[in-house]
Amino acid sequence: MTDTVTERLRPLRLKRREGKRIRAGHLWVFSNEIDTDSTPLRLFEPGDLVSIRGADGRFIANGYVNPHSLIAARVLNRDQKRPPDRKLLFARVRQALALREKLYPEPFYRVVFGEADLLPGLVVDRYNDVLVVQLTTAGMERLKDDVLAVLHELLNPVAVLWKNDTGVRKLEGLENYVEPAWGEVPDIVEVREGRARFDVPLAGGQKTGWFYDQRANRELLRPYVNGARVLDVYSYVGGFGIQCRKHGAEAVTCVDSSERALEFVRSNAKKNRFKVETIRGNAHEVLRDLHREKTRFDTVILDPPAFVKKKRDLDAGRTAYAGIIRAGMQLLERDGFLLACSCSSHMPEAELIRLVQRAAKQTGRHAQLLAVGGQAPDHPVHPAIPETRYLKSLLCRVSGQR
Ligand code: SAH
Repeated sequence: MTDTVTERLRPLRLKRREGKRIRAGHLWVFSNEIDTDSTPLRLFEPGDLVSIRGADGRFIANGYVNPHSLIAARVLNRDQKRPPDRKLLFARVRQALALREKLYPEPFYRVVFGEADLLPGLVVDRYNDVLVVQLTTAGMERLKDDVLAVLHELLNPVAVLWKNDTGVRKLEGLENYVEPAWGEVPDIVEVREGRARFDVPLAGGQKTGWFYDQRANRELLRPYVNGARVLDVYSYVGGFGIQCRKHGAEAVTCVDSSERALEFVRSNAKKNRFKVETIRGNAHEVLRDLHREKTRFDTVILDPPAFVKKKRDLDAGRTAYAGIIRAGMQLLERDGFLLACSCSSHMPEAELIRLVQRAAKQTGRHAQLLAVGGQAPDHPVHPAIPETRYLKSLLCRVSGQR
């Protein structure tokens, strides 16, 4: 018998000596690795399914292609007899869901985290019975009906939102849009995280509405914040600040440049039956002013947006992180705690550690690294793809000794 259905998937052939990385487990084929003489990229439409082949024609994997993107193809599976279809998506999402169900007692988490769940281009966040989905590649966009069907079958949501407004879509030649995929999508949903409750805006919010990735880091702070005065910088709707208050902090101040985010901080504080101060402004300026006023805190949390979006922004980004870490450290009491985060995948953890040490030196303090954290496990890391480990966090005690 000849080959099965995959034979019908058009081949995408790699150049000689390419393919080692993919055979070793990576999921991306870069455009310069493709043998465009035998399989010209222009003959493919964005999102076409392909059979990725070595220079010798031997099967490596099935995936989808995008002739316009630097990442020209992504692997979906490695079974020659099983071309990617709805059944494969179903198996993948079910597998992803099984992990999250183990992790969390309540249905609030990231169900699917792209490459790390072998579903490149797909992100699904779950807010109980409402799902927010991000399709970030042309290949996944093409599979959108299947994605929706599978989510229905596995999760039976009352509403699903396409939150397709990420910057990376442009690299794929995709238009951005935010629209309901199914049902009546509420403007605001409730997230339960431990004992805290948060209202978060979905379509009008940042990312998919809530930052599930910081859950483990909010928990990291728990032993340190009892009775503390906490400054939550880049607070968004108050995830860290309100959780710290729940963990016994005496007073919390949230800083964000978005008034709308701070409105949510105040209403979320009320929802949890306490008060939180808010300061609207540019973090750099707010931290400078607080320092001038000699306001001090026992705990400072720094969770800025990605300062290094592309590799070539590393120098500028590093300077921005350095400035904010130094400014945050200056506001700490003698034995204060600092949580410094970076969600830039291009910012290595070692660099962040260096910046903490440099800031300690400059402010005449002694820093101790207590914990090195990352994204919560509903955002797993694909060990072959360093970009999937994007969030880094350093929890330090910063004493007055030198
Ligand atoms: N800590 C939050 C997530 C932070 S997202 C959580 O745990 O949920 C980053 C936040 O930084 C956004 O709310 C954004 O409005 C804010 N922001 C971006 N640039 C800023 C700036 N220059 N100064 C203050 N806030 C800023």
